[in-house]
Formats: sequence, C-alpha cells, structure tokens
Amino acid sequence: MSIAYGLARAGQRVRLLDEGDDAFRAARGNFGLVWVHGKGLGNPGYARWSREAARQWPEFALDLVERTGVNVELSQIGGLVMSLDERELDARVADLTLIRESLDGEYPFEVLNHGQVRALEPAIGPDVAGATFGPLDGHVNPLRLLHALFQGFRSLGGETVGGVRVERIDHQAGEFRVVTAGATHTAGRVVLAAGLGNRELAPMVGLRAPVKPSRGQILVSERMQPFLRHPSMHVRQTGEGVVQMGDSKEDVGFDDGTSLDQLATIAKRAGRLFPILENVNIVRTWGALRVMTPDGFPVYQASSDCPGAFLATCHSGITLASMHVGPLANWILGGTEPSHIQTFKAERFDV
Ligand SMILES: Cc1cc2nc3c(=O)[nH]c(=O)nc-3n(C[C@H](O)[C@H](O)[C@H](O)COP(=O)(O)OP(=O)(O)OC[C@H]3O[C@@H](n4cnc5c(N)ncnc54)[C@H](O)[C@@H]3O)c2cc1C
Repeated sequence: MSIAYGLARAGQRVRLLDEGDDAFRAARGNFGLVWVHGKGLGNPGYARWSREAARQWPEFALDLVERTGVNVELSQIGGLVMSLDERELDARVADLTLIRESLDGEYPFEVLNHGQVRALEPAIGPDVAGATFGPLDGHVNPLRLLHALFQGFRSLGGETVGGVRVERIDHQAGEFRVVTAGATHTAGRVVLAAGLGNRELAPMVGLRAPVKPSRGQILVSERMQPFLRHPSMHVRQTGEGVVQMGDSKEDVGFDDGTSLDQLATIAKRAGRLFPILENVNIVRTWGALRVMTPDGFPVYQASSDCPGAFLATCHSGITLASMHVGPLANWILGGTEPSHIQTFKAERFDV
C-alpha cells in the first residue's frame, strides 16, 4: 500500500489488485513499531535503510495527515528493549555494538541499568535487569496507517480492486496482462507487493521470492490509564490506552491462529516487565504471519527477463513505509536505486 501511495503521489496512474478478506495480510495484524535498534546485524545496508526510514517518518506522517486528515498516531520518543536477565542484556549489547561498528559509529543506542529504565518508565517490575534504548524508535497505529494510505491513494486518483486474486501474469510486447478470475488488467509496469503471495507470482515475471511465514501472536488488553510512554519490543500502550503485547516467532506454516501456551508465555513476560498488567483483562488476541526471507532481509528487484516488473518484500513494512513511499517508488519509476538496497536481490540465496 505504501508503494501504491508513493507511485500515485508521483503522478502515476495506479491500479491496486488485492486478494479478499481471507488472504494472509501482515499489514492488518502487526505490532506497529517503527524500529531501528537491533536491525541490521550482518547487513549494514539494512541497518542504514532502517535508520533512514525512521528519520523520514515524521515528514511522512505529516504528509499523510495533511492529505487525508488521518492521524497515524506516530510517537517517536525512543524505544526500549527490556531484559529480564543480565546475560540476555549483555548479548544484545554485543550485537548492537557490532552493528554500530559496521556503520562507523552512526547507530545510536544507549544501555540502561534498572534505575535508569525506571526513571524513564516508573511502572517496570523488579525483575527488569536493564534495557537498551534506541532514540530513533517509535510506534504508530498500523490500522490507521493502512487507512491513511488507502485514503491518500484514492484521493490521488488511485484505483483499488478488492477481492481479486491474481492468477497469472503474461508479458508480451512490453505489456503486462494480469489475469484474475473475472478480468484481465493491462499495464506497462507491475509491482509485486503481495507478501506471502509473491512466492507464487514472482516466477511469472522472471523473479524469485523465497518467502516463508513466521507467525506472531498478539494480546490486547482493555483500556488502561496511561502508564507507558515508550514502546518496547514486547509491550506498548496505544494512544487509545489499550496495551499490546507480543513478539513471538513460530514456524507453523500457514496457520495464523493462536495457541494458549504461546499467549500465556507472552502474558507472563509482560506481567514481569510491568506488574500492573498481571490482573488486566485481555479483550482480544490474534495470530498473523510475517513474510520472511531466509536471511530476514528484504528483496527489492527489477526483472531483467520482463522489464517493467518489480518485486518488493520485507518483514518490517511499517518501519520501512516511509522509504517505500519515497525512494523505492522513485526507483520503480526509473530513478536511481537507493544505494542501501542494491544488494537486496534474490541471487544472494544461491550461495
Ligand atoms: C505479528 C506481526 C508483527 C509485526 N510487527 C511489525 C512491526 O512492529 N513493525 C514493522 O515494521 N513491521 C511489522 N510487521 C511486518 C509488517 O506487517 C509487514 O512487513 C507488512 O505488512 C508487509 O506488507 P506486505 O504488503 O508486503 O504484505 P501483507 O501485509 O501480508 O500484504 C500482502 C497483500 O497481498 C495480497 N495478495 C497476496 N497474494 C495475492 C494475489 N495472488 N493476488 C492479489 N493479491 C494478493 C493480500 O491480499 C495482502 O493484502 C509485523 C508482522 C506481523 C505478522
């Protein structure tokens, strides 16, 4: 949706074909973090791309509210990853230090002990050993984001066709014919941004998307008085007062359900981080499937077999939305490929 909005904003005529409500859609089940610190171990390009995305987010959120009136509730005052034991914290700091070195020091984070975390978030429990703090991090309301992108896209003349599954794509004489059950759509360019669906669609235009699902489960509490200002990787309080808890990762194929044992693990950890949550009512839970490549980094690729076809997939589409709207859309339109993403090609999985 970010790419579609970015292309429409650049003056293109865009038609968005989207499968039905029963499709797998990470965009409707995610945690809403705009997150940098911890991203990019072993891949400085990804760390830079994520860092740049976070820097662009305030301007992007402003653009959306000005165009659509939808406030995506961006709060970007920094984010915490809390640890319940010293060893976990030390391992994390070691990883962050490696990423910082690979970026010549331009990767801000701080290491906080229990007292320093408590000064930022007085509601933490006694079990919190410490935390790392990323000053660029934040969170948004992801459903409002999706809504704003749809609204913005439509206001720019973008066309959405919902409830249609793309079954085939043919490329002839410089034209793409995109076939769904009821119609054939023609275009000079196609962008495959179909999440887990990209795996099947990519070979139709000479590309590859070796993506697999990774399930995350999320719990949502009743509304509470505000007690938590900074989002953390496991717990965040939204603008409406509800608390979201999550960050599980499971390899369960295409099962986007929930399981009591995993929900209990998430709830238990949340209660240790913030004892105020121990007796809170949970009003909603869900599972959703992340779109993961074998190394967890994105694929952004133009087809050489079928010029005009592009593929985009990543597992941090909220964080990276600002880059997808701007630099990625510009590249798809013939502009320079952003230097940070030049290595994000599917060929890297061949070695
Ligand atoms: C539990 C969880 C937590 C997450 N937390 C965060 C977070 O905190 N921060 C962050 O940055 N990211 C997060 N993400 C990731 C983020 O949600 C995804 O990166 C983003 O939604 C990916 O967008 P996408 O459009 O590529 O895929 P999706 O959102 O999965 O959308 C794919 C779309 O393609 C359509 N489609 C598929 N096949 C076809 C077809 N053949 N024809 C037509 N349409 C098709 C589907 O209908 C769907 O709308 C999280 C994801 C999950 C699951």
